[in-house]
Amino acid sequence: MTVATEILAEGKTKILRPGLSPNEVRVTFKDAATAFNGKKYAEIPGKGQLNAQISTLLFKLLESAGVPTCFVRAGETSSELVYRPLTMIPLEVVVRNYAYGSIIKRFDFEEGMPFQKPLVEFFHKTSDDPQITEALILELNLVPNQAVLEAIQLMALQINEVFLQFFGPRGIRCADFKLEFGIDPDGKLLLGDELSPDNFRLRDTQTGAVLDKDVFRLDLADLAETYRHLLGRMQGPATQAAPPTRLHTYQAEVFVQSRKSILNPESKAILEGLHVLGYQSVQTLNAGKRIVIQVQAESLLAAEKQVRQVAETVLSNPVIEDYELRLKP
Ligand code: 5GP
Repeated sequence: MTVATEILAEGKTKILRPGLSPNEVRVTFKDAATAFNGKKYAEIPGKGQLNAQISTLLFKLLESAGVPTCFVRAGETSSELVYRPLTMIPLEVVVRNYAYGSIIKRFDFEEGMPFQKPLVEFFHKTSDDPQITEALILELNLVPNQAVLEAIQLMALQINEVFLQFFGPRGIRCADFKLEFGIDPDGKLLLGDELSPDNFRLRDTQTGAVLDKDVFRLDLADLAETYRHLLGRMQGPATQAAPPTRLHTYQAEVFVQSRKSILNPESKAILEGLHVLGYQSVQTLNAGKRIVIQVQAESLLAAEKQVRQVAETVLSNPVIEDYELRLKP
């Protein structure tokens, strides 16, 4: 079988080519290292292969935790992966657990300080990637709607929890990372891009040694050697206890409504009242309730589990009612 050599797109560190079927694209990780918006550049033999391997490991980790990603399988060569094609959302979604990098230039945080709760920041993917507010993201139609933006935020936090549980017991502090998302041909939101140390800040918990692209940005150590060492630790067993869990407060809204076919007494009374008042045009009505909950939990996933249990067992009657849950970070 001949493999297409046509290039669909080429960025600083990856090349996209058509896959064997329309449901796939091939992504080649280049050996190029860039920093400071392309001002610093080097060819580092072996980097592409290492980034493909590290991305594969983390994509598989996320898939097994139930996070939908673009990853399909490893490719024909060791620096190639096969992805589902996505229409990318032009946002860089940065999650921060500790203060490093641009946030300490923008605000007065001490380097390495832990945040009370993980932060999610958005940057617009343009020539200089400015930080952008949620209102502006919607104003510029960078996402299809607000629900997608909220889903991105929740997915980013869920991914962070998976990473903290993975890196922590391997003696690695996951300080921050950048994600990108896209919409697949079925309209589903998926994690895209790559999961390599180019996009992370990772530090050895004991020594503070830098295990990410900062070694290249700041000329601290050999990048390929650092990434190889990191991959070895990621492939190895967990050697330390998981980090102590911290409790966070999460807000949830539960909406409870009768099933469509069931007209509850309250809805019937409101409908009859409206008709008496002359609003004959109102044909159907389904009155429900909205319950606002604050819950303390160690993670967003744990909070969702608790609220779902409460919604199913206490707040709604599963025989005649449906519920919807909205969790806010
Ligand atoms: P900062 O905003 O502090 O510069 O970056 C936060 C995190 O996002 C870091 O882990 C950094 O590596 C990643 N990041 C931010 N912007 C980019 C980018 O344009 N390219 C890559 N590869 N990573 C980025």
